[in-house]
Formats: sequence, structure tokens, C-alpha cells
Amino acid sequence: MKTIGLIGGMSWESTAHYYRVLNQETARLRGGLHSAPVLIDSVDFAPIAEMQSAGKWDGAGDALNLSAKRLVGAGSEILGLATNTMHVVADRLLDGIEATFVHIADPTADALLADGYTKVGLLGTRFTMEMSFYRDRLSARGLESLIPEVDRTNLNGIIYDELCRGIVREESRRIYVDAISRLAARGAEAVILGCTEIGMLIDDAVSPLPVFDTTDLHAKALVAAALQ
Ligand code: GLU
Repeated sequence: MKTIGLIGGMSWESTAHYYRVLNQETARLRGGLHSAPVLIDSVDFAPIAEMQSAGKWDGAGDALNLSAKRLVGAGSEILGLATNTMHVVADRLLDGIEATFVHIADPTADALLADGYTKVGLLGTRFTMEMSFYRDRLSARGLESLIPEVDRTNLNGIIYDELCRGIVREESRRIYVDAISRLAARGAEAVILGCTEIGMLIDDAVSPLPVFDTTDLHAKALVAAALQ
């Protein structure tokens, strides 16, 4: 099995979940005491989040490029970036990097298409919902994505002010469930949890639509790539 390099810390709450799924999936596929050979480069999220807010995407991309270089230099052959939002700088991150990069939107699209869905709701940070990088990647696969028409600021705030800090509130869960209901009313057949922390709030038990959690799908795809 190849070594997986994970760029994490955005936030560390979801990176911890990745670590668990990487190991559970490896054990499921390989049995016995097998666990995932994984290197995690966990960055300090505060300066990255400041660069996001200031629109300094090149600076953030350069910081993640350094992280990728550390991981590849230490022997990672498979590379994952444990946040949807920062895939906006995937090209810059990968500059000069020779490793297999598993883009978080790809296993998500694979899973949706395998289940026959073509029109899906997308929840995530404002950047993921409102910039084109993520929805374009989905539409290149034939997936139409709908984003909430109202409440995007609130949904975004819950990610940064609560989930990334380990705070899970019932009231916030209700706000997300309401957003999913409205996406369903507009014709969405399933919902993408397009932020690696939303799984802390939403699962199939509470969601009005079938849930596609990018954290789980991405972590499993990283294991599959490492086993190829
Ligand atoms: N983890 C989140 C995501 O998947 C948000 C944090 C970030 O801005 O990177 O988009």
C-alpha cells in the first residue's frame, strides 16, 4: 500500500475524522491489524482563513504547495487536501508536485452518478458555493448543482464560527436541515456535504435528502488510490 499524504488542519476537527476513516477503510479492505500508512501535514488554519477572507488565494496556494512538498519529500505518493474550499487553489498547490492527487469533488461525483443522481444540492462555505471552481468540476461530470438561495451567510458562519471550533448546536442543525428541504423543493435529488465539517451536523438520519459526505467519500478514495 502506498503512503497517503494528507494536508490537514482546515479544520483539525475534520482532519481528525479523516484519520479515523482512512484507518477504518484500510482495515475493512485489508483486514487484520492493517492500518493506513499516512502522513499528515496539519497547517495552522488562522492565517489560511485570513488569506481566504482577504482574497489572497495565491498566498494560500503557496502555503499549501509547501505543505505538499513536505509530504512528498517525506515519501507520500498519494496526496489529499482535507478541505473542499481550498481546492480552489489546487493548481497552485500542485505546482512542481509529482504525486497522485485525489480531488475531493471526483469521488463525490462518482458516488452520485453511481446512484443515478444528476441534480444535486451543494452546501459548503460561501467560497465553495459561490465561486465556480467546485460547481464547474461537478458540471464537467454532468452534474447540475443547486446552492441555497437564502441564508448562505448564516450557513457559512456556522462552519467557521462553530463546526471548525468543535461546537455543534441543535439550532444550527435545524438551519442546515431547512436549507436541504428548500433544495429538495427546487428539485435537488440528493445533497453534497461540500464542506468537510458539515458531517458533524448532518447525516442520513436527519437529512430530507440522501447525503453525500465529501469527507467520507474523499478519505475512502484516498485509500483506494493507495491500494492501486
Ligand atoms: N473544511 C471546510 C471545507 O471543506 C472549510 C474550511 C476551509 O475553508 O478550508 O471547505
